[in-house]
Amino acid sequence: MRRFPPVDELADGVRAGDRSALGRSITLVESTRRDHQDLAQQLLTLLLPDTGRSHRIGISGVPGVGKSTFIEVFGRMLTAQGHRVAVLAVDPTSSISRGSILGDKTRMPTLATDTNAFIRPSPTSGTLGGVAAKTRETMLLCEAAGFDVVLVETVGVGQSETLVAGMVDFFAVLMLAGAGDDLQGIKRGILELADLIAINKADGDNLKPAMRARTLYEMALHHLTPISPNWQPPVQTCSATQREGLPDIWDAMCSHRDAMHASGEFASRRRQQAQTWMWALVEGEIRRRLREDPSVAAQIDGLEEAVAEGRQTAGTAASGVIVKLFGD
Ligand code: GDP
Repeated sequence: MRRFPPVDELADGVRAGDRSALGRSITLVESTRRDHQDLAQQLLTLLLPDTGRSHRIGISGVPGVGKSTFIEVFGRMLTAQGHRVAVLAVDPTSSISRGSILGDKTRMPTLATDTNAFIRPSPTSGTLGGVAAKTRETMLLCEAAGFDVVLVETVGVGQSETLVAGMVDFFAVLMLAGAGDDLQGIKRGILELADLIAINKADGDNLKPAMRARTLYEMALHHLTPISPNWQPPVQTCSATQREGLPDIWDAMCSHRDAMHASGEFASRRRQQAQTWMWALVEGEIRRRLREDPSVAAQIDGLEEAVAEGRQTAGTAASGVIVKLFGD
């Protein structure tokens, strides 16, 4: 890897909105080398006062629902209004297969060439938690570079959604009509995370099923306690290809932000997210060190085996590991 410029130079470049400085800063943040990680933290510390000013929006949905089509059109709509839009991704498959199904620039060809947009594919190294950690730091870099809307894309397969919901102000879930006919099949968890549900592909023959699905989702949401007492998640229909319904979705995102600011929840949610984040990093680092310590690592395999086979309780095995790490 090439040498990096001094961090204060990188920080100046990022603040000036220089795309190459931003790209190199993200590469630094994504690097797994210990010396790079130290530099990345110095850089982020320098830039911290310039972060936090974007509207952070998560966009989730199963593969094929239309996320890239939606983000391409939605992103262009926002840049046309004068916004600067960064698109990031948390791809749970990227750390396993090293191939990313999200965030590829060719999926959003016009947005990729828009000077007011910046697209970065999902980081590919480490665990899903590690991938999310890099994405969160990249989000801070994008904010310091002046992007006022950050879209974080993820796929609707479990843990990655929870991680993304934990780093954004607004979590939107794209759905398809067919899936809505069978509410049994919908993960309750995803409805609990959503600040908005958008039934995409509400066009042509699919328009009527999409309207039906909307009613069904509205009923389903009605039975859930909303995450916030100040926001009832709306269910809307849209067509990314026909460019319909997207302004209404943006309006909902802005209304949500206004409501959260008015109630004070905006700031409290961000404070809480930052603290949760700190603890996630502490826990991740402790796990990493545990596994790297040869004497502990040797024991862990045996303990995991004993717990899996029911020869030892999880509690005593856990105590064994903790004592090994911290002493009595
Ligand atoms: P992703 O996997 O969620 O990123 O989905 P894509 O954006 O790649 O879209 C999957 C397919 O659905 C593509 O063939 C799109 O052209 C199509 N598609 C996306 N949005 C719409 C829409 O609003 N209406 C219709 N009819 N097709 C759409």
